[in-house]
Amino acid sequence: MRDEFTAATKKTLAKRVGYRCSSPDCRRLTSGPHSESKKALNIGVAAHITAAAYGGPRFNETLTPEARRELDNGIWLCQNCAKLVDNDVMRYSESVLRDWKTLAEGKALKEVEYGSEDRLQSLLITQFNLSTSDKQLVVDPVTGNTLVFDPTEMTVTEYYKQTSTMLKVTTLPSQWKY
Ligand SMILES: [Zn+2]
Repeated sequence: MRDEFTAATKKTLAKRVGYRCSSPDCRRLTSGPHSESKKALNIGVAAHITAAAYGGPRFNETLTPEARRELDNGIWLCQNCAKLVDNDVMRYSESVLRDWKTLAEGKALKEVEYGSEDRLQSLLITQFNLSTSDKQLVVDPVTGNTLVFDPTEMTVTEYYKQTSTMLKVTTLPSQWKY
């Protein structure tokens, strides 16, 4: 007896990651147009983080059947990645899959908030007049402190997220701040 997700749970899992595969190395869209105009095609799978049935991949015997069916125990993957994670449970452990899920949901939220990562990137480069190749000093416009930014170590976007003082910049449109 497998503890399957409901159709509603599957749909919510897909929507929470914008219908993209949650594997950070894959990230492919799992939904698109079907050649029949009234249909959509789907290569996504609501995969169980811990198995739906006894003896399955990453099975957790302490969970109740209800808990196995819950959204918390699911991750949205493409068919390839769903197959992959069930083939090597040492490499693709429960904690690895939970990290993927958190990351994929975070990326989806960021895309909902400000469009693509590329778009934010180019906005920040323009805003702070940054070089994308050389180490440089950045003057925080609020505190006046000088900070070092090395684009070979992280992207402008990552830097922006990690540098709390730059979050105080008020000239960015409000919807781009987080
Ligand atoms: Zn995938």
